[in-house]
Order: sequence, then structure tokens, then C-alpha cells
Amino acid sequence: MKTLLDEDVAAQWVRVRARLRAEFGEAAYRSWLKPLTLHEVKGGHVRIGVPTDFMRDWVRTQYGNRLLDLWSDENSEICDLEIVTAPGSGAATAENRPLSGGAAPIVVAENNIEGFGAALDPRFTFENFVTGKPNELAFAAARRVAESSSVTFNPLFLYGGVGLGKTHLMHAIAWQICRQSPERRIIYLSAEKFMYQFIRALRYKDTVAFKEQFRSVDVLMIDDFQFISGKDSTQEEFFHTFNALVDRNRQIVISADKSPNDLEGIEERMRSRLGWGLVADLHPTTYELRVGILQSKAEGLDIEIPPKVVEYLAHKITSNVRELEGALNRIVAAASLVGRPVTLESTQEILHDLLRASDRRITIEEIQKRVAEHFNIKLAEMSSARRSRAVARPRQVAMYLAKQLTSRSLPEIGRKFGGRDHTTVMHAVRKVEELRTADSTFAEDVELLRRMIES
Ligand code: ADP
Ligand code: MG
Repeated sequence: MKTLLDEDVAAQWVRVRARLRAEFGEAAYRSWLKPLTLHEVKGGHVRIGVPTDFMRDWVRTQYGNRLLDLWSDENSEICDLEIVTAPGSGAATAENRPLSGGAAPIVVAENNIEGFGAALDPRFTFENFVTGKPNELAFAAARRVAESSSVTFNPLFLYGGVGLGKTHLMHAIAWQICRQSPERRIIYLSAEKFMYQFIRALRYKDTVAFKEQFRSVDVLMIDDFQFISGKDSTQEEFFHTFNALVDRNRQIVISADKSPNDLEGIEERMRSRLGWGLVADLHPTTYELRVGILQSKAEGLDIEIPPKVVEYLAHKITSNVRELEGALNRIVAAASLVGRPVTLESTQEILHDLLRASDRRITIEEIQKRVAEHFNIKLAEMSSARRSRAVARPRQVAMYLAKQLTSRSLPEIGRKFGGRDHTTVMHAVRKVEELRTADSTFAEDVELLRRMIES
């Protein structure tokens, strides 16, 4: 193995950074990439330090693949990349931050990045989708698109909250088309992946192939479209792809967490195009639907689920279907582990835990910690009386996120922020909302934080 001279490594690092900057733009570069420091390049292994745990997680998920990719372009021996928290690297950082979980290797196989599209979940079929009032329109629309050979509405736009079955329906459409007309070419992928592919194509000056790939399909399906917002060149490219496909009478299916009208950061012409076809929403589940889903899932199990347990679960877990499934799985796992039947008592016991855990899942303290880390201020500033902008703004963002992500009331939130009045919290929420509409970089930052905290 060739050992590299330090100058080589330094020059490579400069080039890698320059490319990241060109690809991801100035705002992302400043917030996320500039603070990276190169620690070591040794034996095909690159180690990079970031100032906070928050950044480590974010950089790892959002830029890890690309970083490794760029490094291996520079040096073909490099095969893995590690991102570690190293207080003191990059921007200023709170001195008391633990180094816990510092080493975080990521290993990326090249074919993960090469392939277009994503794998389909074999469980996500129409047969396995339970319908009720809240989702019957979306279901019917999805079926129609999947089963008809001509394009009836274009695009089909499915939207709804987290865990309500958008991805399930999209996979179901893809499966059905595969089964019925295997010659039709389908691409299913997330908006993030679309963006990534596009940026990669730009980088390799390969946009002709990119365009051809996407424009030659019969069915294009983009999941979680909301993540495309704000990225202008990707939106532009998507817009052209969209038009080209519609012109050729090819089917487009899109999912998002909001309706076209409510999506933020989408250009007007794109927004209006998205509403051209059929827009169908998935409403939050009703008690009846939850019972139906539980019964259907219970059928496939070896273990008997008493009706009382089904009712209890349907009453208690109301957030979304993903949580409902999770609760059922947990109860079944616990019962089969100890070899006892599922009972209401055991369910209540397990659920007590689960409900407490989900209550605890996002706490105000956690939000404060993440936000403080993100803005590089001390955690104590969240409750301090200082009003300078550098601490007041992050504090407002944290209050805003506390309102959005927890069920705490305004007075309760105020108390956690150094005993502030509920009107202060209200003001913070309004202010952040205002800034989000006025400043897209700020909006993106808040959105990143929200996703980071929720994940
Ligand atoms: P989304 O993409 O809207 O966040 P998913 O499609 O990933 O949600 O659904 C979350 C989980 O709930 C999946 O396991 C999915 O199979 C299940 N699910 C959602 N809705 C239904 C339904 N109506 N019937 C059966 N399973 C469902
Ligand atoms: Mg989904």
C-alpha cells in the first residue's frame, strides 16, 4: 500500500472541500461542511472530526456517502470514512460536551449510490393495505393508477402525515404495475435520492444520461417530495423531467407530507403543475380503522390477540399506523419470549412502558440541547436572561420547536426556558414563523433541526 505524503493529503482535502462547496452550495457548506476537520488518512481509512454530536449525525446521514465518494475519487485506496465528534474542532463548542459515541464508522458500498431507484418492500401491497374512511380515496386513486393501462390523472399526488401509509401505497402501485405489465419501466425513489442523483450527475457532467434515465421511464414515483423544496436547480430539473413525462403521457406519482398548496419552498409553476392531476390525502386514522388494521395484522401472526387487547391498543395508540404496528409487535414479541398468551394485563404493562417512552421521546430539554449545539451556544443560555440576538434567536427556535414537537402548553414551555411568560413563547413562535417565510436559509435550518430531533 502506498503511503501518502502529508502534502498530498492536505491537497486532497482542499479539493474534496471545494467540491462539496460547489455541489451543496454556500449555505449548506457554511453550516455543515466548513467546520469539518481532517484528523487522519491511514490504511484506506479517513477520519473526520466535527464539533458536536448533532453535526456528526447530520453530516453522516446527509453527506457521508458523498464525502466517501469524493475521497475515493482522490485516492482509490480509500474505502471507508469515519466521522467523529471532536470538541474543539471547527467552530467554538461547549467545553463540557461528552465524547460519548465518538467513533461512528460508516461504510458505504459503491452500488448503493450507483443504482437508480430504491428497493420495494414486499409487505407493502394493496392486499395488505386496510382501508377505511380516512384513506379510501387515496387507496382507490392508487389502485386506479396501478391498474389502468392509460393515464387517467397525472400526477397522482398523495399526501398525509407521518406513518399513515403513503410509502405503503406507492410501493403497492409499483408492485401491481410490475405484476400486471412487467415491460413498463418504473422508477421509485425518494426526493432526497433524486436530488442526490442529480447533483451527482452535475458533478460528473453526466446530466444527459441522467435526463435520459428519468425521461425514458413509464412510471416515475417520487416519495417524500417535501424534501426537494428549496433546492432550486433540482426543482428546475424535476420540473423539466415532469413536463417531459407528462407530454409523453407517462405516469407520475408523488407523495408528500403536505398538499401542493401548503408545500413550502416550491416554485409557483411547480406547485400548480402538481395539482393538475388528482390530489388525494390520507387522513389521521379513526378508531375503526385502527381496529381493522390491528385485526388484519394479527391474522398473520401465530399468536392469538384477544379482542380486548385490540380495542385497548386502538384506543391508546392514536398517532399513526407505524406506532400502532410497533406496539403490536412489541406485545407479541414479549409474549412469545416468555411463552405466555397475550392478555390485557400484559399489554397494559408493556404499553405503560411504551406510552411513557413515547411521551418522553421528545423532551424540551432534548430540544434545548440540540438547538444549543446547533447554534454553538451554551445550554444554560436557553434559560438565561440574556437578550442579545446571538442567544435570543436560538432560544426562540427552541421554543418554537418545543411547541411543534411536544404537547406542552405555552406556560409549561415558558417555565422550562428560565421561567418566561407564555406570551414570550407565543411571540417566539410567531417570530420564527415569520422568519421562516422571509428567509429560506433560516427555514431550512429549522427544518433540519426538526428532522434531526424527530429522527
Ligand atoms: P408514510 O410513508 O405515510 O410515513 P408508511 O407507508 O411507511 O407511512 O406506513 C407506516 C407503516 O404503517 C407501514 O408499515 C405500513 O405498512 C403501515 N400502514 C400504514 N397504513 C396502513 C394501512 N391502511 N393498512 C395496513 N398497514 C398500514
Ligand atoms: Mg414514507
